[in-house]
Amino acid sequence: MALKQFQAESKRLLDLMINSIYTNKEIFLREVISNASDAIDKLHFISLTDENARRDFSITIERDVIARTLSVSDNGIGMSAEELESNLGTIAKSGTLEFKKNAESKKDGSAEELIGQFGVGFYACFMVADEVTVVSRKYGEDCAHKWVSKGADGYEITDAERGESGTTVTLKLKADGDGERYSQYLDEYTLRSLVKHYSDYIRYPIRMEVTHFTDEKDDKGKPVTRAEIETLNSMLPIWKRRKGEVTDEEYRDFYTDNFADGDAPAKVIATSVEGAVSYSALLFIPSRPPFDYYTKAYKRGLRLYSNGVLIMDNCEKLLPDWLGFVRGVVDSSDLSLNISREMLQHDRQLAEIAKTLEKKMISELSKWMESDRAAYEKFFADFGITLKFGAYEGFGMNLDKLKDLLMYKTASGKTVTLKEYVAAMPEGQKDIYYASGSSDVSLTSLPQVTAVVAKGYDVLLLTANVDEFVIKLLGKYGDKELKSVSSDSLDLSTEEEKTEEKKTAEASKELLGEVKTALSGKVSEVRLSSMLGEYASGLSAKGELSIEMAKVLASVPGNEKIKAEYVLELNPAHKMFSLLRSLSETDKTKFGRLCVLLYAEALLTVGIEPENPGEFVKLVNEFIG
Ligand code: ADP
Repeated sequence: MALKQFQAESKRLLDLMINSIYTNKEIFLREVISNASDAIDKLHFISLTDENARRDFSITIERDVIARTLSVSDNGIGMSAEELESNLGTIAKSGTLEFKKNAESKKDGSAEELIGQFGVGFYACFMVADEVTVVSRKYGEDCAHKWVSKGADGYEITDAERGESGTTVTLKLKADGDGERYSQYLDEYTLRSLVKHYSDYIRYPIRMEVTHFTDEKDDKGKPVTRAEIETLNSMLPIWKRRKGEVTDEEYRDFYTDNFADGDAPAKVIATSVEGAVSYSALLFIPSRPPFDYYTKAYKRGLRLYSNGVLIMDNCEKLLPDWLGFVRGVVDSSDLSLNISREMLQHDRQLAEIAKTLEKKMISELSKWMESDRAAYEKFFADFGITLKFGAYEGFGMNLDKLKDLLMYKTASGKTVTLKEYVAAMPEGQKDIYYASGSSDVSLTSLPQVTAVVAKGYDVLLLTANVDEFVIKLLGKYGDKELKSVSSDSLDLSTEEEKTEEKKTAEASKELLGEVKTALSGKVSEVRLSSMLGEYASGLSAKGELSIEMAKVLASVPGNEKIKAEYVLELNPAHKMFSLLRSLSETDKTKFGRLCVLLYAEALLTVGIEPENPGEFVKLVNEFIG
């Protein structure tokens, strides 16, 4: 029989495979096994109504090290001569054109990556074989046929023999060389691990002859081996089993075996969704951040399966960034393995899955917070920062979804959500107060915090860089405004105190102006504050940019010049203030030095080092003495 040519389109894909520089050539086995499983599915379906079609369905891998051949057989539906011709000689699939366009437009090698993620089908065989033989007998037909191809030249179909319906695909592996060891696909161990990795959840047994060592020794003292046919795959994935039937230990073992973590997960979430895109997912929250979690090396994403066949290990598209700590698997039968057919749909389907998974996680996290507070607090201590960044991301597009999952420490030593803070507000408290700084300790001793606490109100302590940015985006929680304790609009004084403060302010107007001049441009404003307690001075900021936010922004290279507009606050009840007043009349030089000292003290209370620490120490000593 004459050699037939592949159809033009198929030839392009075939060329791509033969000349593939794709490093993940091993996926050919996944493709062949998936085809075998599909063929069995088809006959299995017929067997529901046709007893003759019933058999012991299985897939068999055989290897011949001498002949360098690897074959995969199934006892599925098989192909007729016409089907061999049309299925393997052409790819008359709608998406082919799209695939080609994509492969050609992405010259940077990302097309190569694409190849491995979703299936490319039968042609993948030509990445590792220089000759492929397919012997097949269609169910219900008497004769079998053989399809042989050496690749680009074309293919030949002849008559053949086969006992029962089904297909055997035999690969004659390419010679080793150019850094490729194609003979590895004849190693028992390699084949075993490839089946485990990609095809573990194929519904039918995948069998292969494997070698076992026995306790016996031969006459040369070598251990005697015994060959046995074994099933390599575990078939039923844990996420396809009914929730009630899987024990906690089984979930834990699955997690520790698969996600490089020796500790049991803090939380397991199993979910199945029937809808626009149907899928099962099994998700885990680790009990602590992986060692590389906060580095670029960390790979986020879920393991993606299509009908039990592994598509990729870390599919980032399945989770929003703020759920980067979640590990697990998603398995959807709506994702076709074949890229040449369905590629364009995948992004839409993945986005749909991501959307429902995000909703599920939000509801699971809030339920968790209610049902096991201690565990949730521990989780939040480990991963809360990721949620906070998620809340800030995209100018707060997730803020509404996330605001009730966020927790903050407070000046009274509690850890609360905004909702809980509001619920605990005593009568008379109008706003939600927060203080922003580098640590709980420095914040609780901040004079403004002490003053608010003295009024009987609690204060949220914001110590993460991102905290205040989130709070500013939020602005309000319900009808309660979020206010910094160092803002000048706290309005905590009684009417009486207010009148008194106004009077002092009037009387000090000139003095405050002198202080500002003495500090020559270092501060934008000098004002009195009744919130400073034992401190003589304090520092706050004017406008949108707070002192802490400016610190965070200035820590980014190139932004060093960013600075908040400082407001120096002076405590009119402090003895230093009286000294200031008298020096302004008696000794202008000393007055100037006291201004510098009070400003340096104010900087220190908010964790900023004075420009000249030596000078500061000298001033302290001068005024102590
Ligand atoms: P896909 O499987 O995604 O359709 P392939 O290129 O892998 O694409 O295979 C092309 C077609 O060849 C399949 O759709 C199927 O009809 C047929 N085929 C491949 N392998 C087998 C097999 N083992 N048994 C029966 N049919 C097969």
